[in-house]
Amino acid sequence: MASQEPEKKDGNRLKKVHGNDSFQRMNYLYQISKHVADKNPVLSAYYGNLITSVAKKNVLKIHPDIKRQFCKKCKCIAIHKVIATIRVKRKNKSKTIQWTCDICGTKRQFPANKNQDHRLWLERSEAVLEVIN
Ligand SMILES: [Zn+2]
Repeated sequence: MASQEPEKKDGNRLKKVHGNDSFQRMNYLYQISKHVADKNPVLSAYYGNLITSVAKKNVLKIHPDIKRQFCKKCKCIAIHKVIATIRVKRKNKSKTIQWTCDICGTKRQFPANKNQDHRLWLERSEAVLEVIN
């Protein structure tokens, strides 16, 4: 009897990434969102909203590098001097990077001190358990 299981490799089942199709769709949406941002910010925000809803529907996490590029309120992609203004601010000897969305005026701050490690857990080498091709 022919089974409908995926191809077998070295006796083990071929490993699949959970939500691979959705990740590809989100990647595509991210690219178009960035591409149309300078011509049509509203369309860019629409694609940004789609990325969030695809992630929510399939219970997937958006990588912080990508997530941080979108405005939290209007979901428009933040490109310096096009849609957002990025400034380095100093306050009590600590530096922060401030993004201001030119469309809705939402501000976001990220720490950026020289001598401190502000990397996220995902950006550290010990966070990678397995690489699936
Ligand atoms: Zn915004």
